[in-house]
Amino acid sequence: MQYILSIIIITTLSLAQEQNYIWPTDASKTVTAFFGEMRPHRYHTGIDIRTFGVNGKEIYAIDDGYVYRIGVSNNKYGNVLYIKLQDGNIAVYSHLSKFNPIIQRVAHQVQNKQQSYTIDYYLEAGLINVEKGDIVGYTGDTGGLSGPHLHFEIRDQINQPINPFNTNLKDFFFDNIAPIPQSIAFIPKSDTTIIEGTYFTKKFNLNKIDDNNYNLLDTINIIGDFGIALKIIDQVNGQPFKYGIYSLELLIDSISTYKINFDMTSFNQSNQLYIERDYELFSREKDEYYRLFKSKFGKNYFIEDNSSQKNNSSSGLHAFKVIAADINNNKTQISGYFRAKELIKPEKNYYQLNNGSWKIDFKGIQKIYKVNANLFNKENINEKIEPLYDIVNDTSLVVHNVNNTYDVLEFDLNTLNGKTSKEYILLNTPPQDINGNFFINHNEEGIIVNFIEDVFSNKSANLKYRKNGILHSTPMIRSAKNILSSKLFSFNDFLLTQDIYIEYDFDYIVSKKMNIEKMATYPNLFSQKTFKNGQIIISHQKETFFDSTIVYITQPFIKNFNNESIISPFYIGPSSTPFNKPLGLSLFLPSQKNLTNMVVCSYDDKNKEWIPLETALDSINNILETQIRAGAIVGVIKDTKNPKIHNIVPRNNATYLMEDLNNFNIKLTDDFSGVNYQDGIKLFINGKSILTGFNLYQEKLIAYIKENITIGKNTYELTVYDNANNKSTIKGSFFIKEK
Ligand SMILES: [Zn+2]
Repeated sequence: MQYILSIIIITTLSLAQEQNYIWPTDASKTVTAFFGEMRPHRYHTGIDIRTFGVNGKEIYAIDDGYVYRIGVSNNKYGNVLYIKLQDGNIAVYSHLSKFNPIIQRVAHQVQNKQQSYTIDYYLEAGLINVEKGDIVGYTGDTGGLSGPHLHFEIRDQINQPINPFNTNLKDFFFDNIAPIPQSIAFIPKSDTTIIEGTYFTKKFNLNKIDDNNYNLLDTINIIGDFGIALKIIDQVNGQPFKYGIYSLELLIDSISTYKINFDMTSFNQSNQLYIERDYELFSREKDEYYRLFKSKFGKNYFIEDNSSQKNNSSSGLHAFKVIAADINNNKTQISGYFRAKELIKPEKNYYQLNNGSWKIDFKGIQKIYKVNANLFNKENINEKIEPLYDIVNDTSLVVHNVNNTYDVLEFDLNTLNGKTSKEYILLNTPPQDINGNFFINHNEEGIIVNFIEDVFSNKSANLKYRKNGILHSTPMIRSAKNILSSKLFSFNDFLLTQDIYIEYDFDYIVSKKMNIEKMATYPNLFSQKTFKNGQIIISHQKETFFDSTIVYITQPFIKNFNNESIISPFYIGPSSTPFNKPLGLSLFLPSQKNLTNMVVCSYDDKNKEWIPLETALDSINNILETQIRAGAIVGVIKDTKNPKIHNIVPRNNATYLMEDLNNFNIKLTDDFSGVNYQDGIKLFINGKSILTGFNLYQEKLIAYIKENITIGKNTYELTVYDNANNKSTIKGSFFIKEK
């Protein structure tokens, strides 16, 4: 009886909550981003509505309610309005150009009272009531770099963001295109897992059967614990954008093992993002893969509680199926098979024939069915061509189009005895010398030491290291054409290794030493260590990482920088482990007389440029301080250029009509470290300090000048700092007449 009663109550409640919201703006009904999409270090907690590059479109109260909270800031939400609706939910409108005049007046009073441009103000219920359809503000581009749009959220009674399309707002929006998967990844979940012959995450292309069905053509060979991740987007009729999806479910042998749906979240779960989307694939390749297994750290409301943390490949053939859906319930199925089987590694012999072609003879296989092959260059570049080949006598290959440009063959074979592992061979004279760089790949499961060869050596090598005084040697695996990779070290194992080097097995011995210094970090423990003879100080605040791990400093994995750093750049890891919170990094530079204009930077290898990090200066101790939120190459750049003030209005000695001069029109730009908009803009009008803000997207000064100018002559002085303490000042006067 009680059960029936509670069902009745729940039904009544949910009926009472059935909304009848109106669309929040007249700008458009085009949505450019969904709820639950990936943003740097957080989830997108609303939807973005397109305003087609224009500011000032009306926004409406989507239901009756009252103005509950007003925010003004230079970054993040910019000008933001919160309306408490009659059903208890909160509608949030952000990046506004301005509020309606009544709300604008309150915001301005609060700013003046608090003597701060930035405010976050809660209003009492009933102070400013609104009715459904009232204009409450205007769309804009404040707070961010992304340009004009309306970021719109709905939050529940306790301020938790809910999917706006789980309300009647979904009815304003049409979409019958099913999600489109792009590739699938298999991820090792133990230090003994082998996926297609390697210890690494492997990606596979999918085969399209029809708009709603995709599959993996090859059965994947996996031994041990693993996880699956899927790169998938949604599309919407008539729109060019790529969207996040609404839900995913993984079934292994028809049993559901993982479910996620983007219904609601909490702001204290932002740190879940990089343990839900796969951080290794994201940090290495900027690819967005939804993991189809749960992390053991923290709680994520999106993920169903009883989801598995990993899958296991035991004997026999297993089927997997992923069901992906968008918010309109358009569905796509992705299916395939995996089995616990090792790849075969046949012996081979290869040589050049008189006609210039190359012949490869395999031993220990009966018949080659299929050849999967590419021809590459031996340099560390990834251009490839298709080889022209013949299978001869069932067990030999003859490759015809080998030349000096395309001389490395990558191949694997499907044979009567099974699939072979992937191999690389040089069909050319081997290089005389070996050069390259070390790179550590450090993910949640452990640490792999990689050596990236400048030129494909065609040789095998061992990783050698000392542990507890004993010399160890383990074979390296060629994990890609120019990359030799070690076994996976556990965190504790790697902590104890010393004197790491790679040794090639030539006619003579070639060895390369790795320089690495490391420190252990443990959750909930503060720790600090100096590196490079005291030049680098790393402070691990509590909870920088979800789990115990290693922080290390090593040489960068690239050699050629634009040569601007005043210290020799170093790499600080972990590389593919997500940071839960930032890591403190201090640089002690006693040889530099003056650190005033120095900025700590990370290097963007893709665009070959230094990216300034927020840097604090301790000039007494000659220390630069910053924080990093990901593994990075770090350097220090001297910023010598002053910020620029592009003064359009007021012009010096010009005359303006009072009614025309609502704001100054001044653009502030900086070439490198950026305008210090938080506390580096100082404006005086007639000797009085004026509250200022900054529009990041337009790079424009925001100043409330109306109440501070008078008929006749006015003077102004504007000083602007960049983030490296360089400054520029302009001053002058202008005249105001009434009519
Ligand atoms: Zn948004």
